[in-house]
Amino acid sequence: MQQQATTAPKEETSNAAAELAAGWKLECTYSLLPPEFYVFQRPDPVPSPRLLALNLPLCVELGLDPSLLQSHGGAEVFSGNRLPVGSKPLAMAYAGHQYAHFTLLGDGRALLLGEQISPDGTRRDLHFKGSGPTPFARRGDGKAAIGPMLREFLVGEFLHAVGTPTSRALAVVATGETIYRDRPLPGAVLTRVASSHIRVGTFQYAALQKNPESLRALTSYTLWRHYPHLVAQKNPALSLLQEAIHRQARLIAQWMNIGFVHGVMNTDNMAISGETIDLGPCAFLDTYHPDAVFSSIDHYGRYAYSRQPAIAQWNLARFAEAILPLINSDKRTAIQLAQEALETFPEVFHQAWLDGIRNKLGLQTPQNGDLELIQDFFTALQETKADFTLAFRALAEGSEPQATSTDAQPMLTRWYQRWRKRLELEPSPYEQILASLRSVNPAIIPRNHKINSVLDAAENGNLSPFLQMLEALRDPFEKRANYPEFREPPPPGSPPCVTFCGT
Ligand code: AMP
Ligand code: MG
Repeated sequence: MQQQATTAPKEETSNAAAELAAGWKLECTYSLLPPEFYVFQRPDPVPSPRLLALNLPLCVELGLDPSLLQSHGGAEVFSGNRLPVGSKPLAMAYAGHQYAHFTLLGDGRALLLGEQISPDGTRRDLHFKGSGPTPFARRGDGKAAIGPMLREFLVGEFLHAVGTPTSRALAVVATGETIYRDRPLPGAVLTRVASSHIRVGTFQYAALQKNPESLRALTSYTLWRHYPHLVAQKNPALSLLQEAIHRQARLIAQWMNIGFVHGVMNTDNMAISGETIDLGPCAFLDTYHPDAVFSSIDHYGRYAYSRQPAIAQWNLARFAEAILPLINSDKRTAIQLAQEALETFPEVFHQAWLDGIRNKLGLQTPQNGDLELIQDFFTALQETKADFTLAFRALAEGSEPQATSTDAQPMLTRWYQRWRKRLELEPSPYEQILASLRSVNPAIIPRNHKINSVLDAAENGNLSPFLQMLEALRDPFEKRANYPEFREPPPPGSPPCVTFCGT
């Protein structure tokens, strides 16, 4: 797209003392990249901001004072009405393959506020979503609704609680505006935090620029942000590719082991840091099926549950293509080196996945027949239409996983007896194995039907169910007496869950 004038807006100085006290320590190193990578842009002012949710533990991690931010000042700052001291908001430019079609994109309704330096020295992006249209908005309104932003909050906190690298919501503010989707909805601004928002698509965008310096600058910047230990390597670009492949393979293995379906693994939604980003149409498996798809627009199952590893590898191939000139000046050599790196993906993924499943089943010492036992469990889950999460949790609680119909139960019973026999080969006593299973197989996940019901309540002004669900999801390995409804699968006969992009 045509480059906009990139003059930085003036920093806010009013209330600066109060904001310093709140703990803002923002830097804007992204704006040191060449100007084609971003456009300075202010958030749209909103009429009556109201803080709906503030992530207290994340505030503390970031060195922000939650009590100061919970006051009126927080709503002003997290709506974009007042910029925190040090912020120079910008919309990031990027490209991406959306459902395999290459497009020029960019933050259409998002803004990078800056990078907050935490007390431990960690640098993390603070990013708005729904803060108004940017020059990349195409025909979008630049806005977001309360429901999907609170949804992102719940999913991010859950993924974090189960140890999956992810972006997280810091705050959701209701703007007081009405926005229009299939019906009028209350508007919101989400503030999210991620290691960075450098995507495969950012590199695709850099590779498109006529100037090879663009690609070099982005690569150096990414190494500095996420892989500083690789800077001194003989071939830093190749090392970057190799490590990004490893991180992504391990991330996808974690997704698979928790029943997570990202839903929109376009190359612009894959972070080079190895974190989960863009928690839009994602959802979690209820009944197990490898072809599970939730997104309303994923008609051919491109981003189905079991296709995620292959898609990640495809996306990484797009990353490799973008940085080829930096891997070697001879194109054939560069392609060969990149190809070798990409070929490690399946093995790294498989090993990470297997390690995860072994932990979920308590199979610590490798034995003959383990792989078959694992495969047969997935076959049994599929054929008996068992609930993915509850099946693993049942094992952890010393009981047999349940099929949806009594006719199908014998298949799971037979598998369960084999598994109990197999555990006898483990050196640890059964009770100890179960305790370890309870720390990796969550009792509670963000069930789609529960998310929908708490978001409906929130949209109607009742935030209590959302707050209860948030509390439960932050402690997902506890079998809680107080929130039994968050454990239950959708009632039989419920319509299939459908999720939406661009909400
Ligand atoms: P996503 O599918 O959320 O990754 O979004 C893909 C692209 O569409 C990104 O460039 C977004 O910034 C943009 N986008 C999504 N919704 C809107 C909206 N309501 N207004 C402007 N841009 C949008
Ligand atoms: Mg996106």
